[in-house]
Amino acid sequence: MNPPRSARHRLGGSAIPSLAVLEPATEAVLAEIPRAGVEEADAAVARANAAYPAWRAVSPPDRAKLLHGLADALADRQEELAVLEARNAGKPIGDARGEMGMVVDTFRFYAGAVERTLGDTIPVAGGVAMTFREPLGVVALITPWNFPLTIASWKLAPCLAAGNTVVLKPAELTPLTALEFERIALAAGIPEGVVNVVAGPGSTCGARLVEHPDVAKVAFTGSTEVGRTIAAGAAQTIKRVTLELGGKSPNLVFADADVEAAAAAAPSAVFGNAGQDCCARSRILVQESVLDDFLAALSAVVAGIRVGDPLDEETQMGPLISAQQRETVGSYVPDGAPVAARGDAPGGPGFWFPPTVLAPVDPGDRAAREEIFGPVACVMPFRDEDEAIALANDTIYGLSGSIWTRDGARALRVARAVEAGVLSINSNTSVRVSTPFGGFKQSGVGRELGPHALDHYTEVKSVYYATGG
Ligand code: NDP
Repeated sequence: MNPPRSARHRLGGSAIPSLAVLEPATEAVLAEIPRAGVEEADAAVARANAAYPAWRAVSPPDRAKLLHGLADALADRQEELAVLEARNAGKPIGDARGEMGMVVDTFRFYAGAVERTLGDTIPVAGGVAMTFREPLGVVALITPWNFPLTIASWKLAPCLAAGNTVVLKPAELTPLTALEFERIALAAGIPEGVVNVVAGPGSTCGARLVEHPDVAKVAFTGSTEVGRTIAAGAAQTIKRVTLELGGKSPNLVFADADVEAAAAAAPSAVFGNAGQDCCARSRILVQESVLDDFLAALSAVVAGIRVGDPLDEETQMGPLISAQQRETVGSYVPDGAPVAARGDAPGGPGFWFPPTVLAPVDPGDRAAREEIFGPVACVMPFRDEDEAIALANDTIYGLSGSIWTRDGARALRVARAVEAGVLSINSNTSVRVSTPFGGFKQSGVGRELGPHALDHYTEVKSVYYATGG
């Protein structure tokens, strides 16, 4: 049985709420931490507000040095952070190491950007007009449980580089690396009050940040459903908002592709992080003439996926994040579902779910339309290029996707036609520190990573200087 997620414990004689953080592979309590509420959110905003004038006044080279120092400090603690993330989020240790590497790289990238936040000069009559990119002030960052510190770093690094101060609210299920980050930042010389972490529920602590009059912007990653609430709440004070939301991404395999390579690569593109990935290529669309070959190759790979202890170096897939998530995912595979392939999963404690392929699936089925956020893939056939594009775009989402073909012109034609923000051709990798990431349609607003992220943490100011000629 799971221990209660929230209890009350005593600190200094008075009862304060506490949060039990679980390890999804064992269901055991990994840590008990104080649970932040509205008061703690207000106090964090006040600290960030007080620290803002001095932080924005730090000279660009000094701010760059501080962020490089932070990147070094994170690199020193990389293995420890990877183990903590693997245990708390239930992800394979190899993946967690890769993610912590990306955290370090993200801070290095934006440390380099501090001195390259350029403006324009614009020819006008009677003087000169110039633009500046000014920081926004206090920015609230609200993040999910699937890639806890990685997604936080995509926001923290450009936000701090631009001269803002932050309040980060990680998901209650996975707050541990964010809390560790706050300590590392302080020890690395980032001034007190610049980085504030509040670990509390979205409905109270998160909602308070969204409505708070002293918060200039909310950068959110999470479900489309909560994203709508955030956008509506932020509208009350005309806060800036960026939203990185859900997905139901297509993996298009044309008959002229290297079908074996596409089938070998497809499982990790949908079962990576146990399918709890906004970019999961969970709709595998295969040209009907190669469907049988593709399914045969895919099934063989799925059967061999090693599901188990996240800290075992051989593990390829861990458990789901919670009992509730397992129940939700299971609802997409009811008795009688068309299971074409299924892998193994351990028994006993832990929120395990085997990698599962459904085929054939009707494009109107719930499993083919909704974001499952678990290791369940739907395989659907298409006749020709037009039908492939129509099926790919038949969704409210538009985050990611892949196109497998040996025909270069088709690859580009289809890439231009698919309504998604991040695509890959003959590959399933779409997330890089140096390239923009974000969604079309109901997958989000704005872009993270790459040079583009800085636009979303600054305001453009135009200044006209009359020179009399
Ligand atoms: P949720 O939307 O449930 O939660 C995300 C964050 O928002 C959590 O910190 C949560 O707090 C908080 N939150 C919940 N309600 C509110 C509220 N009313 N006001 C303010 N904050 C709130 O998403 P999940 O954590 O379940 O993450 C999974 C979702 O994230 C998937 O849909 C996935 O597609 C999406 N995602 C998108 C990515 C992208 O870049 N596009 C990347 C990764 C995930 P708490 O949980 O602590 O209560």
